Amino acid sequence: MADTTIDFQEWTSHHVRRFRRRLLHWFSAHRRDLPWRKDRNPYAIWISEIMLQQTQVATVIPYFERFLARFPDVHALAQATEEDVLQVWAGLGYYRRARQLHTAAKQLVAQTNGRFPQRVDQLQQLPGIGRYTAAAIASQAFDVPAGILEANTQRVYARLLALEGDPRRGLAQRILWQFAERLHAVGEGKAGELNQGLMELGSLICSPTSPACTRCPVADQCSAQRNGDAAAYGTFSRRPRVTELHHAALLIRRGNRWLMRQNDAHQWWTGLWDFPRIELPAELATAAGRSSPSVKGRHQPLPADVAAKLQELAHASYTLSCRPHHLVGRLTHSVTRFRIRLQCIVAEGHRIRLAHLPGQWKWVEPSAHSLPFTSTARRITQQILT
Ligand code: SF4
Repeated sequence: MADTTIDFQEWTSHHVRRFRRRLLHWFSAHRRDLPWRKDRNPYAIWISEIMLQQTQVATVIPYFERFLARFPDVHALAQATEEDVLQVWAGLGYYRRARQLHTAAKQLVAQTNGRFPQRVDQLQQLPGIGRYTAAAIASQAFDVPAGILEANTQRVYARLLALEGDPRRGLAQRILWQFAERLHAVGEGKAGELNQGLMELGSLICSPTSPACTRCPVADQCSAQRNGDAAAYGTFSRRPRVTELHHAALLIRRGNRWLMRQNDAHQWWTGLWDFPRIELPAELATAAGRSSPSVKGRHQPLPADVAAKLQELAHASYTLSCRPHHLVGRLTHSVTRFRIRLQCIVAEGHRIRLAHLPGQWKWVEPSAHSLPFTSTARRITQQILT
């Protein structure tokens, strides 16, 4: 990055004012009607910003509306149980976000009776709120002139400046944060509108692979566009390679209820309920996969050697005594850079005493449950156990 050449000189107060005027004008005509833009409620803005981390706008909208209906303000969220919060969040993924929201709500109520601080550094004291989220809340709710940098804006800024290299790293990040602040340095207000306009520009016009420069309101102030190859700037280095894992979910029944466990603090989906899972060595996954999940509606038995090995693994993982016998379905799902192939295996339990198993366990009737399930547990109950 040492050879990156940046000319900030062009961005004089006059140049910044012109840029802001055009962007704000464009944003007022093209802004999407999103539920968290209805007013300047810091609570709603905070929830939306946390949900939008790692998740697309279209996916977030129904979750946001359900969350606000269930927890309309920070007091309601602080008073909820963690299970209630996780249940409303279930399906959105990255559950640490929900737990941090809940902790931060309790902290806010305890410290300020639920009032949001207005300064970026104060907001950053709350769990789960980094520099970007703090600046987004402060600017949109309180019109604090604070620059933002997230996936869309870093691409836009990198192109405006024709900044070479990966905009997420080292010196490039520092330059882009400085640039984000510079856009607010002329002191003309409308900080929230400006930040939303910048993100909207990145989302609707300045897309990662095919920026629509001919429709861009600030094209004549954009160095990448002038260089004639806008898409070459603001791009990321390659994502890490996907790693494949094999798991088995053990489906153990008692009457109309199924054995489930709550994932503990060292596991993915902490706090959510799942069927007991075991990680399979690749050769065992291949051997189990030789069974067909169903032939003419009849489930196929597992090979004896596979069943015996699964029995050992269930005991080693959870001290769980059971006899796995049939493969009844397969699911594939992804977590961060892992793709998990999940084999769903019915097993017969032997004298299972929940109190003797490590962690939290329950016999659950899926149709009557009020527990937060993992999304795969929901898929199993909806697609395989019905
Ligand atoms: S001119 Fe093109 S590259 Fe530059 S900000 Fe607009 S859309 Fe992005």
